[in-house]
Amino acid sequence: MIFLKTDDEIELLRQSNLLVGKTLAEVAKLITPGVTTRQLDKVAEEFIRDHGAIPTFKGFPNPYGGPFPASLCTSVNEQVVHGIPNDTPLKDGDIVSVDCGVLLNGFCGDSAYTFCVGDVKPEILALLEHTKEALYKGIELAVHGKRLGDIGYAIQQYCESYSYGVVREFVGHGIGREMHEDPQVPNYGKRGTGSLLKKGMCIAIEPMITLGDRQIQMESDRWTITTRDHKCAAHFEHSVAIGMGKADILSSFEYIEQVLGDKAI
Ligand code: MG
Ligand code: MG
Repeated sequence: MIFLKTDDEIELLRQSNLLVGKTLAEVAKLITPGVTTRQLDKVAEEFIRDHGAIPTFKGFPNPYGGPFPASLCTSVNEQVVHGIPNDTPLKDGDIVSVDCGVLLNGFCGDSAYTFCVGDVKPEILALLEHTKEALYKGIELAVHGKRLGDIGYAIQQYCESYSYGVVREFVGHGIGREMHEDPQVPNYGKRGTGSLLKKGMCIAIEPMITLGDRQIQMESDRWTITTRDHKCAAHFEHSVAIGMGKADILSSFEYIEQVLGDKAI
């Protein structure tokens, strides 16, 4: 069931999502060769709790195993999503997707950004740039009267024009009082198909795009998803409210990109 949000509820969702953006900016300050993803996670959890919110990922149940043990998903290189923070230092040339979710005043925020660690290869940098652009191609269609398939089609067409893989097993989602609400928001699809988008719907759009084949696998930790061909994957996510003629982006990369300066994707 899709819950439509009132304007007041959308403002609360915006506050939650802005806190996610600010948390990711705190993480951005630390990303450099030698830092561990566990260090990033610790800083993020403290920042979230200091702002009166709860990290929604921590303790998130898993149908395949134990609950998620951390506040961030940190997915390095061939890891696509749901990577668990650990003590392995990031190294020059890595990329790391950092996905963050919070619960504040009863509403959820959810957003992700893929960062470069030092200098990355041009083809990997291009993957990040194009994945971020694909997210905005999808957001352009997150308007009243369009359909979910229009969003997926736009993302898929754009990414496949660069011969990237579009992951299908994981999708975006409705967002509100729960982090994952209906509808599912695939990054592939056919124009004019799927649920009708209506003002008041709030969704997280999150393309997961690979440099090679789109095939993925789950690692033995029962969380981390990696590409089968071990090529890099990128992941960018915004939470948006469906608007009349224009989507209202509730999360923000502005805080992150102020920190990154000319290193912004
Ligand atoms: Mg997310
Ligand atoms: Mg999400």
